[in-house]
Amino acid sequence: MTTTVTSPAARVLIGPGARHDIAGEAGRLGDRVFLVHTRSATPAALELAGALGEKLVGRFDGPVVHTPVAVTATAMELVAGGAPDVLVAIGGGSAVGLAKAIAARTGLPQIAVPTTYAGSEVTGVLGETENGVKTTRRDPALTPGTVVYDAELTLDLPAGLTRTSALNALAHAVEALWAPDATALSDALADEAAELILTGLPAVLADGRDPAARARLQQAGWLAGLCLARTTMGLHHQLAHALGGTFDLPHAELHAMLLPHVMAFNLPAAPAAAHRLARTAGSDPVAAVRDLARGYAGPRTLAELGVPRAELPAVAARVAARPYPNPRPFDADDLAGLLDRVWS
Ligand code: NAD
Repeated sequence: MTTTVTSPAARVLIGPGARHDIAGEAGRLGDRVFLVHTRSATPAALELAGALGEKLVGRFDGPVVHTPVAVTATAMELVAGGAPDVLVAIGGGSAVGLAKAIAARTGLPQIAVPTTYAGSEVTGVLGETENGVKTTRRDPALTPGTVVYDAELTLDLPAGLTRTSALNALAHAVEALWAPDATALSDALADEAAELILTGLPAVLADGRDPAARARLQQAGWLAGLCLARTTMGLHHQLAHALGGTFDLPHAELHAMLLPHVMAFNLPAAPAAAHRLARTAGSDPVAAVRDLARGYAGPRTLAELGVPRAELPAVAARVAARPYPNPRPFDADDLAGLLDRVWS
């Protein structure tokens, strides 16, 4: 079987204070800038607005998790009014996703400035929700052409979101290790991402304002995003998409609670991935990830997220009917059992 590895060309600016280069980067692409950002990124957005002056033709600060098409429609009205020739997104995966959705409708070039570890900024993956159904497409043309990593923008990321977002990134790396199209490149990216997260997350949790520790974790998010971009995701991401879209759940929290359960389910059928993760964790990787997930002070089960237990078998049946490639085959009963464990 031939595996095709797509590496979209992207400029990556990385380093403390790199956000001060956004205006200059935008100037390389056009004269009229439209900015989307999560509210958490308002200070950075206002700083950029000051640097852009009249080149800023519109700003939208209402991105929503899972990119609902109705929110995109609202943003598109502002985009139409401003007639930009470049998009800048500052914030978590919600902001980056909205810019991709706008790019999908306009063909505009994007500059992504992530402030979490979701990794969306280096993928051509766009998930959109409508009427409770999440549809995902992959198109290299949707990959932002420029990414700016400034770890200073992550210093205020709360401990809870730091933990769950880093586990979201770890899920990309773990699934890359057992992906059917894993290569030496994706294995190397995944190994390094997993190492940086397993060793780096505790350091950031101990001192969230340590710039060097934050920078290491941000680089883990970058590498994990590249894993997501380069390999086919399996059961973990399929469950996250199905649950997140159906019940409108917080993205990173959901990934964090699913990951140890999916690892426990899959790793016996994925010995190479299990070996690499054990080497990286220095112990049982499922236990290591479970411990990191357990430290979260917010919701740690589907029950705590308010998901009705009675609806889990229907989700399991839907996922089992159209499975993503996965190292361990499963049927609806296997998944119903797994989801029930995540519920309770
Ligand atoms: P998010 O963007 O929804 O942000 C979560 C919350 O954290 C928001 O309230 C936000 O304002 C706040 N926040 C973000 N950065 C912050 C910071 N530095 N300091 C303080 N607060 C901050 O969450 P997310 O987990 O980054 O992204 C989730 C979204 O990204 C989902 O829609 C998911 O589908 C998408 N996603 C897509 C891909 C892809 O490749 N397409 C990959 C991962 C995630």
